[in-house]
Amino acid sequence: MMQEIEELYQEVILDHSRRPRNFGELPDAAVRVHGDNPACGDEIHLAVKFDANGGLEDIKFTGRGCAISQASASLMTMKLKGKSHAEVMEMLRAFHDMVTKGTNDAPKSLGDLRVMSGVRKFPQRVKCAMLPWRAVEQALEQGAGEATISTEPD
Ligand code: ZN
Repeated sequence: MMQEIEELYQEVILDHSRRPRNFGELPDAAVRVHGDNPACGDEIHLAVKFDANGGLEDIKFTGRGCAISQASASLMTMKLKGKSHAEVMEMLRAFHDMVTKGTNDAPKSLGDLRVMSGVRKFPQRVKCAMLPWRAVEQALEQGAGEATISTEPD
């Protein structure tokens, strides 16, 4: 059974990495964040448009990198689009806990994002999975303009 679940998870990750959702430009974005994961060579360019209350009205990305980073970005944008600032921060915390802590009980609120739970067994892959989330965290913090982030300390 566990094996079947892991295969299903791999299928979802491969599907999202091959056909990423919300992939493309967002011409009227309020903030753009360029994220780098030099440990793996992943890059993401995240663009966010806010609604009047600071929620994520629209979110799109482009980039290239491993299947984990691209699938994580695709699944993340699907999940966060239309969410309030507080909901995004809650998801960010829950996702980070899921991929860094050794628990099998990721909150149901994460939905499809739970397919990424397996990366916690591979510390190098955690950076790949977290890259788009680091980018969205920076986008919320900054609110406007452009920024660059990296998974590696300066
Ligand atoms: Zn990667």
